[in-house]
Amino acid sequence: MDCIFCKIANGETNCHKIYEDDKAMAFLDISDDFEGHTLVVPKKHIANFNESSNCQITHLIKVAKQISQHYVDLGYEGTNIVINNGEAAEQSVHHLHIHVIPRRKGDGKLYMPLHSRGTDLQKLAKKLRIK
Ligand code: AMP
Ligand code: ZN
Repeated sequence: MDCIFCKIANGETNCHKIYEDDKAMAFLDISDDFEGHTLVVPKKHIANFNESSNCQITHLIKVAKQISQHYVDLGYEGTNIVINNGEAAEQSVHHLHIHVIPRRKGDGKLYMPLHSRGTDLQKLAKKLRIK
């Protein structure tokens, strides 16, 4: 399978590694947008969040939390923890990854400001509720 994160995980492609254990790796995102933007990936190919087992995602979240805490300990003031799940949600690399983005006050905006759509939230919650 031609997957860039599989290639990084098996050492075929270089990365700027931050963390590694037997099941996961974390490395710097090449986007060079926010300083320290990091991706946490499973070593085994998993396409996206919904495809992961509870055990797999739990491990990745634990690693993301450890890295997030480490970055705050280093002096960053906060972190964004982001998973883009599926193409419609702007997932561009189809190997599960968690973005850990260190932040400092006033360092820019992660998202464009969103405007209210005037949705009837009561109706919507009825449609979306897990019974
Ligand atoms: P997403 O849009 O959530 O799928 O995020 C994919 C991320 O992977 C983007 O932020 C890319 O900049 C990043 N990316 C793509 N190729 C590489 C690579 N070879 N090394 C590090 N990060 C990468
Ligand atoms: Zn992969």
